Amino acid sequence: MKNTHITRRSALLTGAGLSMTTMLPAAAPAQTARPATPGPAVTESLALGDFAVTPLLAGKVISDNPIATYALNVDPAEFARVCTDNFLPSAKSGNSFTPSLVKAGDALVLFDTGLNPEGILAALAQAGVAPEAITHVVLTHMHGDHIGGLMGEGPTFPNAELIVPRAENDYWAAQDNDAYKAKVLPLIGKARQIGDSDEILPGIRAEAAHGHTPGHTTYLLTSGEKQLLLSGDSFNHYVFSVAHPEWQVRFDADKEAAIQTRKKVLERLAVDRIPFIGYHMPYPAVGFISRRGEGYRFVPATYQFAV
Ligand SMILES: [Zn+2]
Repeated sequence: MKNTHITRRSALLTGAGLSMTTMLPAAAPAQTARPATPGPAVTESLALGDFAVTPLLAGKVISDNPIATYALNVDPAEFARVCTDNFLPSAKSGNSFTPSLVKAGDALVLFDTGLNPEGILAALAQAGVAPEAITHVVLTHMHGDHIGGLMGEGPTFPNAELIVPRAENDYWAAQDNDAYKAKVLPLIGKARQIGDSDEILPGIRAEAAHGHTPGHTTYLLTSGEKQLLLSGDSFNHYVFSVAHPEWQVRFDADKEAAIQTRKKVLERLAVDRIPFIGYHMPYPAVGFISRRGEGYRFVPATYQFAV
């Protein structure tokens, strides 16, 4: 089924006149990862009050040895049991990258940018949006899979105001980090730096969710009674990090702070019944969180936004 899906998507991209070679990323994000496959087959928009929200599939990878990424502090037998219970292999894992496009009045706002310009541009093309039309690019944090699409030969989104969490920028600006220097540094002079609770645009509020990185930030969209949280990398796997928020994740900079934040965000989504888009949830990455046992369960959205 998966292969059929990919073949169909490849056919769609080819049909759109896009060469597959231009879709492939310049570099894989991790040693064990295969190249990201590009572009979405589905670019359905969700109606959220006055907002139209479109999850964009900017890439996918398959990686080895998931216990070393999602379950650093977990006994291998326990990890294998959880995998079996959830019909998941224990030797491989899949990951996807889902920036969100939000139409808010005259603004067209892109949250995070994928691994590279090719992936996000292919996804935007599928949605019928030119990069020049993006008015704002907002970052949850500055890991390579979120900032990678910002810069190619030049800025990918030439007319967009870049909006970044100040704490995140302060951290990376003090590191000797190639991705930051290539993707963020050329743009930071004109960027807007924001803090916790700032309303970055009407109805869109930044909420500090530190731990995954020192300035990791989520964004809450509110229109009338409707809300949706762009949860970024608060939890990075739809089973491992949701059912077991206490499992340590390799990419979390401060493991304990990330666990506390993960629990807080999951509990809030469950109690307030707020829909969310999680950057690494299975595409289209939209869903709900319910409590289950000691942890939580990811409930994929279906037609809730269509009725
Ligand atoms: Zn990420």
